[in-house]
Amino acid sequence: MSTPAARVSRTAPLAQDPHRTPDARPQDVPDRADAAPDDFEAQYIPTLVDLWDQLIDWDRRRASEQDFFVELLNGAEARRVLDVAAGTGYHSVTLAQQGFDVTAADGSAQMIERTRRNAERHGQSFTVLQADWRSLRRHIDGRYDAIVCLGSSFPHLFQEADRRAVLSEFYEALNPGGILIVDHRNFDAIRRHRYRSTGNYYYCGTGATVTVAHVDEELCRFRYDFQDGGTHHLEVYPVLAAELSSLLIDSGFDTIQTFGDFQEDFDINEVDFVIHVARKP
Ligand code: SAM
Repeated sequence: MSTPAARVSRTAPLAQDPHRTPDARPQDVPDRADAAPDDFEAQYIPTLVDLWDQLIDWDRRRASEQDFFVELLNGAEARRVLDVAAGTGYHSVTLAQQGFDVTAADGSAQMIERTRRNAERHGQSFTVLQADWRSLRRHIDGRYDAIVCLGSSFPHLFQEADRRAVLSEFYEALNPGGILIVDHRNFDAIRRHRYRSTGNYYYCGTGATVTVAHVDEELCRFRYDFQDGGTHHLEVYPVLAAELSSLLIDSGFDTIQTFGDFQEDFDINEVDFVIHVARKP
């Protein structure tokens, strides 16, 4: 089990060309066996949680997403929506403001507490609970019309068995006809050493820069540099778009639609984020 300290380190800039991602492991990166990258809770240390809203910038994010998720949910006639990776609550609050019956869940106690506070600050009231996806159904009440897992959260699952088990949990938590919306950074491009982040999608804050410190087929390590000089890292599994589509089909979902940066017609080399919309028959 890693200690939070293992997650925060100061490193010299690694990539000279912002689009070229390094393939060599920097010296200060903790050994993966020690770092336990799939210990997602340890990655969201209080100082990073404190900076999260600065990183995503709610206003800029809203301007960039516009009604993309609302339209998908309305298209599926969804009313009861479960946000399984609520983080600081951006989507839960936004969807509650749009009239959806929202439940916000997250496995991190730090993050979910932030959702609670942000909901209150925005005058929204909905159920907020701490739940690891791997035991999701133990925490929730009944089924949902839609599940959203956004902000490149799903790649926190490093084991294929976990990815399959979690998709199965999500599937079972949906009503027939319900949809799962799950996204991730464009690891197809990142794994080809073409990291591209316009800063226009999801992580829209202007007070931080995000670079790839390391990538291989099993691990992607992002480095977040904040204006105050603070540096944080997040480690995730670099899932490919086709890999996730195929897992969704294996899990029983039937229609899978894929979007790149909110567009149905997109070039996989050119987008920052990939979004999958999967329907339960
Ligand atoms: N959706 C938010 C956003 O877009 O701002 C937060 C995204 S953040 C990258 C990923 C979130 O997923 C974190 O809040 C983390 O605690 C949560 N998470 C990761 N693995 C999880 C798991 N196995 N169960 C529950 N939550 C998990």
